[in-house]
Formats: sequence, C-alpha cells, structure tokens
Amino acid sequence: MKYGLRVLHNNQRDLSTCVYLHSGETLYMFNLGDGIQRIASQAKMKFGRVRGIFIPSLLPNNFLGLPGFYLTTRDGMKASESGFRFSIYGPEGFSKKLKDVRYITGTFAGCGEIFEHIEEIKEDMETDEEDIELRTKVSKKNYFEDDEVRVEITSNVGNDGEEFLSYIVIPTQKRGKFIPQEAKKLGCNPKLHFKKLSQGEDVTLENGTVIYSSQVVEKSLPSESFIINFVPDSSYIDSVVSNPKYEEYFEGNISENTSLAIVYHSTESFEIFNNEKYLEFMKKFGPGVKHVIDCRDLNAERIVRYKAMNLSLKYHTICSRLYPLAAFNLIDFYKANYHKVEDSLKEFDVIMAESGLRVELYPAKSAGVFYDDVIKPEHMEDEEEKKITEGILTQNEETKANSEFLKDLDIDAIIPEKKFKNEPEILFCGTISMKPTGSRCASCIYLNIPGDKGSETEEEKYRTTPRDKFDSNYGILLDCSEASYGQLYDHFQDINILNQILVNLRVVWITHMHGDHCMGISKIFHERALAIQKLFSAEDIEKNQDEFTIYACVPYFLENLIKDIPFVKVIPTSKLNPETEKYYFNDDPFEVNECKPKNVEGCVQKSYEECLQNIQQMEDNFDEDTRQFYQVLNSKLGIKRIYGVEAFHCYEAYGCVVEAEDWRILYSGDTMPNQNYLNYGQGITLLIHEATLENGLEDDAKKKNHTTTGQAITVGTSINAWRVCLTHFSPRYVKVSEITQEHFDNKVMSAMDHLRLKLSDFEWAYRTLELYKPFEDL
Ligand SMILES: [Zn+2]
Repeated sequence: MKYGLRVLHNNQRDLSTCVYLHSGETLYMFNLGDGIQRIASQAKMKFGRVRGIFIPSLLPNNFLGLPGFYLTTRDGMKASESGFRFSIYGPEGFSKKLKDVRYITGTFAGCGEIFEHIEEIKEDMETDEEDIELRTKVSKKNYFEDDEVRVEITSNVGNDGEEFLSYIVIPTQKRGKFIPQEAKKLGCNPKLHFKKLSQGEDVTLENGTVIYSSQVVEKSLPSESFIINFVPDSSYIDSVVSNPKYEEYFEGNISENTSLAIVYHSTESFEIFNNEKYLEFMKKFGPGVKHVIDCRDLNAERIVRYKAMNLSLKYHTICSRLYPLAAFNLIDFYKANYHKVEDSLKEFDVIMAESGLRVELYPAKSAGVFYDDVIKPEHMEDEEEKKITEGILTQNEETKANSEFLKDLDIDAIIPEKKFKNEPEILFCGTISMKPTGSRCASCIYLNIPGDKGSETEEEKYRTTPRDKFDSNYGILLDCSEASYGQLYDHFQDINILNQILVNLRVVWITHMHGDHCMGISKIFHERALAIQKLFSAEDIEKNQDEFTIYACVPYFLENLIKDIPFVKVIPTSKLNPETEKYYFNDDPFEVNECKPKNVEGCVQKSYEECLQNIQQMEDNFDEDTRQFYQVLNSKLGIKRIYGVEAFHCYEAYGCVVEAEDWRILYSGDTMPNQNYLNYGQGITLLIHEATLENGLEDDAKKKNHTTTGQAITVGTSINAWRVCLTHFSPRYVKVSEITQEHFDNKVMSAMDHLRLKLSDFEWAYRTLELYKPFEDL
C-alpha cells in the first residue's frame, strides 16, 4: 500500500490550493475551489476513488469546486457497479450552503455522511440528524474517521471573523504482516494458532507458554502524519498559534507510535512567514518536519490547463483574427520572490508547493519528494502532436488555394461590409456541454459593448479594427459555468485587465439552473467585488454605489447563492418573460427529478408584432428594480432591452434576447427546438443556438430536451436569422465540433473556446470553418 500527498494545484492565478491524500486506492481531497474539476480531469484523477472531501471555508476558492465535482462523480458512477459514496466535511453553516446549491446539484443523497464542523463537543449534545432536505445524515463533529485515516479538524479565525478549517491527518495504522516461519519456530500449531495470532490475539501453547501476537507480526504502519494548515493572511496567526489542537504534534509531545512528517502551509500572502509568532509556531514541530510552502504571493504563474491552451494556440495559428489569444504574459513569482524564502525560512526544511508535486510517505523504499508530474511549459505540446498540427497547416495552405469559400478571403485585411451601431464584440469563453473538461470549458459568452463609452467618431475605426478593448467598455455575460473566471484569465493573461473587465461587467444572464450554465457565477461576483475594492477608494464606492451595481438575471432559486455578494442586484428571469403563460414547467424543481412538458402545444405561432405587444405589456408592468435595470441598459450600455424567451428544457429556463437599435442577438441557452424561439427570434441578427447532439441523434436530443446541429440550423433559417452561431457541444468533441455542408450553405459559424469576434465578423467567419475541419477527426 502506498500512502502520500499530491498537490493537484497550488495557490496561483484563478485557482487555489487543492491537495489530495492517497492511501492505497482511496483518495481524500482538501479544498475544492472553482475550476478544480478541469485540473482534476486533466490529471486523469479517478473521481470515483474519492472517499472524503474537506472544505476549509465557504468562499468560492474553497467551496465552489464541490458542486461540479459532486455532479460529475455522481453521473460517472451511475453506470458502474461499485456505487458512489463519499463523505464531505465542511465548516459551520455548511449544510445550509449545500441547500442553497441543491437546485443545481439535486440533493446530496447518495453521498456518505455530511459533516459540519463544531469546535467543541459537549456531553449529551445531539450531533447526528437526518437532514430531510439533503436526504442524508448530517453530523456535527470535530474529527473525521474511516478505515484509512483519522482527520482531526480545527478552526482558526481571522480579523474579519472569517473562519478557516485546518487538518491534522493521521493514518489508521494497519496491522503488520504475520510471519508464519517465526510462529512455527516458537512452537505454534498452524491450524490452532495462526489465525488468532495474525488477527492480533495472543495464544497459550499446550506447555503453558504464552505467545504474543506482537512476536510474530510486523510493526503497525504507516505512522507518518501531516498537517494541512489554511492561514489566508496574518490576521489568522493569533488564532493558529494559540490553538491547543496543534500542541500534541509539537516535538516532544507527539505519541510514540506516530510521527509528524509534513506541515503544509496554504496562504495568500507571504507576510505570515515574516511573523515571529508564526515562525516560532513552525519551530515547535521540530527540525525533522518538512514544511510545504504554498503562498500565492510567491508561486510562479504557470499555465496549468496546458491541454486547453495548446488547443487555443492551434486555433490561433490558423486564424489569429478569430482567436486573438494574448501573448503569454506570466510572472515568475517564484524567481522574483524566492530570496524571501531563503531569508525568512532558512532554518526550516522547505518544499515549495507546485502543481503536480508528490510527496510519498510510505512505504519507506518509495518515500520522497517527486517533481516528475509537476506541470511545466514543456507539457504544452509533444512532438507527435506538433507534427500533426504542422501537417494540418500545410494542408490548409492547399485548402485556401482551392476552396470556393476561402479563395477571396484575406482574413487579416478584411473589412466587413455589414455595419452596426454600438457594435458588440463577442467572446465565447466556454462552448461545451455537461461538464468542463481539461480541454474545454462549459457555457459562458461575454458580450463587450461600447455603450456611452464609445463615440460616433470612433465608430468607423471600431468597425475596421479587428480588436477592441475589453477593459474600457461594458460587459454582459450570458451564462457562466464553473471555471469561467479562469477562462477570462487565460484569454487576457493579465490580472489588471481582468479586474477592469469585471468592474465593467453590468449584467449576467443565467439561462437555467444546470451546473454547466451557472456554477461559476459566485466566483465572478466575488472577484468583481474584490476588484472594485482594489481599484476604488471606500469613499468613491460609497458615493457612486449605483455605478457599481451588477444585475444578475437568474432563475429565482439561485438568488440565495448570490444575493449577499456586494454590488449584486438580483432580477429573477421570470420577471423578464413577455409571455404571460409558461409552457414548460413543474411547480417545484426539487420534488421531481425530471421536468415534463406541461403545455408545449399551447405555444402557438405568433406574428412579430404580437410579440412586440407582449414585450411592451411586460415593460409597462415592471417593478422599480427592473425599471432601474432598464434605465442602466438604455442610458449606459445603449441597449434597448434584455428579455427572456422560455426554453423547453427544464424548470425556469429562459433563453435571452439582447436588443440594441439596429441589432438583436438571441441566445438559446439549452432547449429543444421550440415555437417560442421561432416567434421572438423572427428576423434576428445573430442567433446563438445550442447544438448539443450531432445529426442523426434526433431521438436522443428529444429525450434530453436538446437540439441537434441540423435542427439548430433549421431554427436559424426558419426565423430568417442574418447569421447563426452554434455552441454547447457534446464533450466528446475534444478539438472541433461537428462541421457539415449545412454550415457553409447557411453561413453558420461554430464556436470554440476563446473565439472572439465582432458582430459584423459573422459575415465571413463561417468560411474559415473549412480550415478547422481537419482537426475534427483527431
Ligand atoms: Zn441544461
């Protein structure tokens, strides 16, 4: 049995510490922040082997990876025999938080126990209860134990009252191997005595001699314990150093059978290692202990989603105009800051935490610190892949010369003929369905809109320059899956630009409650609030409150998850539905697993004038909040209206229309082909439609309330859309989604992650699909 630790991700860029312990085949994960699922899937981690998950705090960097992880594990396990079961341990308030996300995840039934931390257990205290809403047992405890490990858990508190859990992990000692030769030598009878001895019982021979089990069984192992300490900043230090729970592990206090091998320090800021009290605390563990330093201030910024970035670079090589990835502008914090470690921590045995680092603790012959899986730039592309890409690029030169579609298209010099006022630029952050993978991210579209920040004189320039500044315009986000923040970071490669982009973001529309459309929203809102606090003084913020408001148009039951994040104002999407009737719903999404169509036939064909009347009626009846929302849209963003079109997919699902003076975009979200879209989408400028399944799978699509490629294109032609762009593809398309002759015949574009183009670019963008087609078969 092997036993050790692996750093899945260190504290840097958009992600935070994620460490897992492996004990034989069993895994235990510590800290699941937004986006970790992509790294875990890239690392080919076996989700089904996880038996314990430990969440140190309910902040996005610590908690938000859990819902997606749970969903993926549950879905992956359905088909398997072994069933699915892991326990989750979180801080106080944990079960309430799980209830807030259960509209996305479903109940946590099928999980093992849910543990909620309690620092002190008093006698005669009820600590176990069945939680009816979560349909599972919730226990209040300050430790976790199973066959493999015991985890002592303790909480430390910072200045702001925020609580973080830390963990002391003690392996359950396995009885050593029974040595039959030894027992024989001592005169034991194999039939009478061996079983008892090997199970730890002592036996008495006929001559009265007592043979102790310990005489014939090897020493119990393993004994190496470790501590994972979450100390976000120096305000937690007083709480940590005075916490009695660590004392048992100080040098001299530790019990004979165990030893402390490692203390892992996860922190945001290096200041804790300049603090005398904290250094004193570290010293108390003794000189034999290794200290793993995982500090955001110190870690090298590195592309860890190398599979995804490799793919985007290929798209970029083919057409940089459509895939304008920023140059890799990464800061080697490590190089810049390592002298700090040498200065402050020289008396300690230090290991720097890197993504992919392994520390093996048992058995002794394989123990050590291993860097072979550490993610390095060399991982970006192997020789074999490079050859394939080069082959495709050569092939593309020929395609360009011979193709009807491409021959008069000079991509870099092109000026679109179509002209739009207040023209949006559209960035497809994620284009895959179901779950984010190592290579691609799930649904998220960023609309960059000049609004009152653009000017008439700039309009011509804006139209003819391929790129626009994202950090000086307004933003509207259409859906926001887990890891959307990371996608934006990867696209712009600069935290300052990203912060500005988040500040400029004014609207987020979530089409429905499925995780691949909404799980990243809290992370975006939290990071946005931090960015505002960083860029503006408290006085500025106080004075211009309204300037910073972001409108979250979401299914109403997502409200609890986000309403307390600063600057967020929730507008339930049901208020923005111009139809008075709902065609597709159940009363309570929580009670039933599957949402069945209620009155789909009731949705009949309407003229566009009729639709406009409904919209007018809806707007006349707006409440104060919604009126204010429209006021901001009109006066700042130059957007006439944003409203919902009910999708036929699940409860409270609404596609979204964004309408300006001379253009309209309809984003479908998830839906089966439906009459509502045919009504409100008439004459639309751009239809962005899901195409989850490939042609030929129409029956499957119907069962799952989705659309096929061909069906989506037909919706576009039926409503006379100027252009159509497909997205939300099955994750089985790793590199490029299905490209058919229909695409070219109907001028239909297919989106891939990091596609970024102006509305007018759709005029010609579909023609380049011919160049991407060779990737389809790889
Ligand atoms: Zn869905």
